[in-house]
Amino acid sequence: MLRSKRLWSLPPLLALVACAAVPPIACSGEGAAGSSSAAGDLDAARAWAHLEAQVAFGPRPSGSAAAEATRAYIEAALKDMGLQPVRESFTASTPRGPVQMANVYVDLPGRERGAESAPMLLVVSHYDTKRFDDHWDPAQQTARFLGANDGASNTAVLLELARVLCAVEERDVTYRLLFVDGEEAVLWNWDDARGQVDNRYGSRHHAAELRRSGRGRSVKACVVIDLVGDEDLVLDDDMNSDRTLMRIFREAARAEGLAAHVNGRRIPIKDDHQSFMEIGIPSVDLIDLDYGPDNSWWHTTEDTIEHCSVESLEVFGKILLRGLEGVEGFVLGR
Ligand SMILES: [Zn+2]
Repeated sequence: MLRSKRLWSLPPLLALVACAAVPPIACSGEGAAGSSSAAGDLDAARAWAHLEAQVAFGPRPSGSAAAEATRAYIEAALKDMGLQPVRESFTASTPRGPVQMANVYVDLPGRERGAESAPMLLVVSHYDTKRFDDHWDPAQQTARFLGANDGASNTAVLLELARVLCAVEERDVTYRLLFVDGEEAVLWNWDDARGQVDNRYGSRHHAAELRRSGRGRSVKACVVIDLVGDEDLVLDDDMNSDRTLMRIFREAARAEGLAAHVNGRRIPIKDDHQSFMEIGIPSVDLIDLDYGPDNSWWHTTEDTIEHCSVESLEVFGKILLRGLEGVEGFVLGR
């Protein structure tokens, strides 16, 4: 991704208590706690294991066998929780020709209120990694980019969030956890200026489906998470994000005593949240786009496990869960 990301959240305790609830999807299996007690914490060690597993697949650009292996891993992990992931396949038209892509999502239904279904909160992570074959430096075009932070860390957290939500007995909002393909540009530069958007393929596809089906009307907020494994985690204050949602997460961090981790730059960031903003869904990007000295590890072969930390996943997990409590309130108020 590039300078543009977003985040969503749900009411803290509600989130922890809500996941198993409504019949269509009862979370179960090894990963689910089944009771709200102790369900609240995101287990950074479990998330770290998801990060390692993805990196072990090697570079995972859209259309690759490793991307398919990653999808299968995500689906298997969700099924282990008793969830029923849905695969959303499509062919993306890119500057390098058609590329087969697929999103994976799962819904955790909230309690119906009378004849009305619960409002939806969308949480998004991209699992593809940046392709290097169009790198400006020919010597880099065959480099192995592992995306431990950019792709794996956020996807790891989203998988672990699914487990946490599964331990919640009842929810007031429906969570859709969406793992998108094709966030990264196919060409080296993230360029929207040539008459063809070359990025956010998966989120744009999903947003178009939400609009086409009418389901988008029930989606009241979207939280995108990206690049959250940096050993020096400081989330940026993205100017493209919905201000209220951003404030919710910054206040959540302060409430957790983690204000130093949301003290990042105020900059406009381009990321998957834009796709949902474009169809009128308030969206926020939770991202630390300052990775390594002068951001020198971002989109380079330095984006490795050694430059991520389990402590950062733990910190981010606290901010995310606390913030989601606030976002659930935001969703219910719209
Ligand atoms: Zn990226």
